[in-house]
Amino acid sequence: MSARPGVVYLVGAGPGDPGLMTARSLELIGSADSIYYDRLIPPGALAGAREGVELVYVGKQPGVPSVPQEEIGARLIEAAQAGRSVVRLKGGDPFVFGRGGEEGEALRAAGVEFEVVPGITAGVAATAYAGIPVTHRDDASAVAFVTGHEDPEKGESALDWEALAAFPGTLVFYMGVKRLEENANALIAAGRDPDQPAAAIERGTMDAQRTVTATLRTIHEAVALAAVKAPTLIVVGPVVERREELAWLERRPLHGKRVIVTRARAQASGLASTLRDLGATVVELPAIRIEPRLDAPEVREAAAAVGVYELICLTSPNGVRLLFEAMAAADLDSRALAGVTVAAIGPGTARALAKRGVVADVVPERFVAEGLIEALADVDVEGARVLVARAVDARDVLPEYFEQRGAEVDVVALYETVREEPDAEAIEAAQDADYVTFTSSSTVSNLTEALGDRFPASARVVSIGPVTSEAAREAGLRVDVEAERHDIDGLLAALLADARPRP
Ligand code: SAH
Repeated sequence: MSARPGVVYLVGAGPGDPGLMTARSLELIGSADSIYYDRLIPPGALAGAREGVELVYVGKQPGVPSVPQEEIGARLIEAAQAGRSVVRLKGGDPFVFGRGGEEGEALRAAGVEFEVVPGITAGVAATAYAGIPVTHRDDASAVAFVTGHEDPEKGESALDWEALAAFPGTLVFYMGVKRLEENANALIAAGRDPDQPAAAIERGTMDAQRTVTATLRTIHEAVALAAVKAPTLIVVGPVVERREELAWLERRPLHGKRVIVTRARAQASGLASTLRDLGATVVELPAIRIEPRLDAPEVREAAAAVGVYELICLTSPNGVRLLFEAMAAADLDSRALAGVTVAAIGPGTARALAKRGVVADVVPERFVAEGLIEALADVDVEGARVLVARAVDARDVLPEYFEQRGAEVDVVALYETVREEPDAEAIEAAQDADYVTFTSSSTVSNLTEALGDRFPASARVVSIGPVTSEAAREAGLRVDVEAERHDIDGLLAALLADARPRP
């Protein structure tokens, strides 16, 4: 059910990994009129908000004056009473050190209806991502969530250190970095074993999660040495040792590696999400954008007459998509290709065809124009009408080949790849990249020109194949890795092989 007018939703956004947001939270974000959000919400959490939504930042930032809690409550009430549907979005769970309780009380007092949407709290999420089970049959039958930094206005500490020291289970401290040394000493003084394992988990579940382990006695030194900063969770108890077996995030092959993806935004998501699954921090720096040319007369003509060709060569998934769009504009569908031999340059293009009900007749073993030529050696094209559907600035290898073999070739540019201006934030994030991936020569030339001397010098250059590598060398780059298979999977395999630690 979408957000209702006049209702305030106290929504947990989870610990930071966007994949850990609940279905309910996404539904409400997508339908609310107003969203009041905190600092610690996952990147992209608001991407699904509807057009015209009112977005209000009410987060607290260390050292910056923030909106006082009473005022946040008052604004939520006001918005709801004005008939808006309001999402109050908080990191983790709204009722776990999230002041959601206070906001709920203010809403109840004002007679405003509210709903609470729990989120995955950092105490279980960051620990799980660090390979630390907060309970364990052998090690911990209980877990306590404790604040390590109490409200300074509260005066006397409400924490009962004796009780916490004696607590028969895992202690998880939120907001525990600043007072780590004091808190650890208080626990030890109250009788907790100073040699008990302890961990600090920084930015749990997010890119660049870090975990530092030591003992209760030494954890503050380890944290200072590693310059661990908030948001960080402190865990105390024998379960911390289970991490030696259970750590998984840090073991992913690209953990801690920053990888630049230069594909057009529309295509980048597959590569980017696979890289993320492998543990990489992805910087999307699209170098190009696809500009369809569906209104060009030659495109319309070729699409309306696709059936007359004996052979059609498609050189990218974009080409497939746009050919079908151009055909649809002429009231045609895949049946118009019934008698046509269809050649795809590689498996991605073949998949795009398959999605539209066409099984490619020819897919080469090498996914470059030359590979397609080899694969077509046995196809008789003398006198045949051939359509090469591709990008404006593509190489002329294919058309020249068909002409030589006596075919009647139409070359139709379905789209143009134009430069995308990278945004400043992405350029900044790209500076200390470990890898930059190039999936076509146009990504090379456009990115190097767009970045100029801000091209990240540290990054190893990964190229999808020889044509792209050549373009990279021409642009003055050193190619460190070239894929053996010239498609996205091949590029990933080559990057992984390069990133594998060498003996
Ligand atoms: N409501 C939130 C907690 C807010 S208090 C929740 O349920 O998770 C803020 C504290 O939570 C931080 O100081 C830190 O101790 C912890 N925290 C929040 N997100 C974290 C993360 N991704 N990794 C580690 N600790 C986190």
